[in-house]
Amino acid sequence: MTMQRTTQDWQAADAAHFLHPFTDFQGLAKKGARIIERADNIYLWDSDGHKILDAMSGLWCVNVGYGQQALVDAATRQMQQLPFYNAFFQTATPPAIELAELLAEVTPPQFQHVFFSGSGSEGNDTVVRMVRRYWDLLGQPQRKVLISRHNAYHGSTMAGASLGGMSGMHAQGGLPIPDITHIEQPYWFEHGKGMSRDEFGLVAARWLEDKILAVGPERVAAFIGEPVQGAGGVIIPPATYWPEIQRICDKYGVLLVSDEVICGFGRTGRWFGCETLGFRPDLMTFAKGVTSGYVPLGGVMVGDRIAKVLVEQGGEFNHGYTYSGHPVACAVALANIRLIREQRLVEHVHDDVGPYLAAQFAALRDHPLVGDAETCGLMGAILLIQDKAKNTPFPESREIGMVCRGHCFREGLIMRAVGDRMIIAPPLVITRTQIDEMMALIRRCLDLTLADARAGGWLS
Ligand SMILES: *Cc1c(COP(=O)(O)O)cnc(C)c1O
Repeated sequence: MTMQRTTQDWQAADAAHFLHPFTDFQGLAKKGARIIERADNIYLWDSDGHKILDAMSGLWCVNVGYGQQALVDAATRQMQQLPFYNAFFQTATPPAIELAELLAEVTPPQFQHVFFSGSGSEGNDTVVRMVRRYWDLLGQPQRKVLISRHNAYHGSTMAGASLGGMSGMHAQGGLPIPDITHIEQPYWFEHGKGMSRDEFGLVAARWLEDKILAVGPERVAAFIGEPVQGAGGVIIPPATYWPEIQRICDKYGVLLVSDEVICGFGRTGRWFGCETLGFRPDLMTFAKGVTSGYVPLGGVMVGDRIAKVLVEQGGEFNHGYTYSGHPVACAVALANIRLIREQRLVEHVHDDVGPYLAAQFAALRDHPLVGDAETCGLMGAILLIQDKAKNTPFPESREIGMVCRGHCFREGLIMRAVGDRMIIAPPLVITRTQIDEMMALIRRCLDLTLADARAGGWLS
């Protein structure tokens, strides 16, 4: 007979054996983990039966929402028929081939090829390997340097964390690895004082040109960026930024890589973030939304400029993963992408809930704690600020974001805090009525945070 475990039982076993990712183990053991037991649509239920509105889509991935039977059926069928076979040694499985074909259809026209991985981090490792292989094949082996941005997130493997610009990650493990360097992020609130957003976008893009010239254009292999930085706090660049980045990459022949792990598959209101932000990458990393997180899958879309060289110049690319093209993951991805198409979720974000959310966020700007509130498709950020009139931020030590996040959990809302930016990225299936429900919760949590700030005398 199995015993029904209580929350306390789960927490004790968790603390005894499970090292969580990105977690202070001692801190967690003291508090006890929140145990999530089930989910449906945009809602989660914890082990105490509390219902929570998941405004973060799990971890930016459950684009079609929870409980989609078509994905469950696709996985079940594939597991019964062929749970695994690899794609090494000149073999392939039907789901991997069909997914490659479908990805070529839904991605921008320069993409006709895909390299599969098991996650976004692995996809970015592939990017580093592939970009350097490309330049080797072209007889320019000195082109090894990849340029990224501070506060970027590109995953947590050695290459992924090196490409990322998170100083806390670089401080552990001797990162970044050689020949990866960073420029400042296009964050207007931090770097754009005294400039219009459009002016600042051009200034921030030209930091790339300065860096290319400092490194030496003949040594620069590629530039990588998220169309909208996700984990960094939903940093939405000015409209002028990406077209100028594109111009600079073209000028120096530098490959342009779009990390679409969050922005891909409808998040920004187009299929891919580069389409919303207006640029034409040579490579695109994807993961998360490709399967809506139901099973792990990642990969890299390889543009014709690179595919042509890799394929036509021949020779073995000494790189791959056991799970590159995993048949179950690919079968789920096929069902997921078909569902996004059938339910017209990209159009739903672009024409309906995206603009609706933008209007609701704009209305938040009246709130005494809100310095700004902005969205791109179904990603949004609320900047909490100490003094609106003087534009003064809260001191970091106040951890105002964490205070607000605590209220969110208690009120049944998952909203993430990145410093003083409260961020959301709800499932694309969210309706207007559900956005109203989410906004009411957000307002309540902002009010509770404001009450704390007033009571604590943090506002003066
Ligand atoms: C989550 C994320 C990754 C890493 O993906 P994993 O599947 O966690 O390895 C890479 N890039 C971006 C932009 C991400 O948000």
